[in-house]
Amino acid sequence: MQKDSLQDLYVDELRDLYSAETQLVKALPKMAKAASNDQLRQAFEEHLRQTSEQVSRLEQIFEQLGEKPTGKKCAGMEGLVKEGSELMKEDFSDEVKDAGIIGGAQRVEHYEIAAYGTVRAFAELLGKPEQGSLLEETLNEEKQADQKLTELAAEINAAASQRSPAMESLRERSARSKRAA
Ligand code: FE
Ligand code: ZN
Ligand code: FE
Repeated sequence: MQKDSLQDLYVDELRDLYSAETQLVKALPKMAKAASNDQLRQAFEEHLRQTSEQVSRLEQIFEQLGEKPTGKKCAGMEGLVKEGSELMKEDFSDEVKDAGIIGGAQRVEHYEIAAYGTVRAFAELLGKPEQGSLLEETLNEEKQADQKLTELAAEINAAASQRSPAMESLRERSARSKRAA
């Protein structure tokens, strides 16, 4: 049977988001573990709590719709998580790795912001303001998470920029001269 209504698309996109959020529930603890900066780690732990809450909101919406949340895999989130885990495996210094993890995490937040903006608009159009409000709550959390990462990046990127090749060789040279003395 052809799926031809906006309601069908709405349910499809909600399933995609459900898959995205459940993938993140697994990925965020790994990002927290890989982060060296305490505040960054805490930000991921906090966003993990919010993400579990976001999964519950979606389940609530599916219950109202009388639909199942499962059955779709979010390929976009799968790709973003894969890129993040590839980065975390690389041999960067702590500060540079943290800067990279932030970059990956902000890609995730922007993806979610776009997706929740879409489904919230659909919910309003379909005459489901209660679902629209639930989706807006999540949308605001994603925006706040992104903002928090921007704030942390200011400090962490500055620390990472001190890790230039020139600085490394200076450090090595001074270590060598200390040994020689
Ligand atoms: Fe989320
Ligand atoms: Zn997706
Ligand atoms: Fe998020």
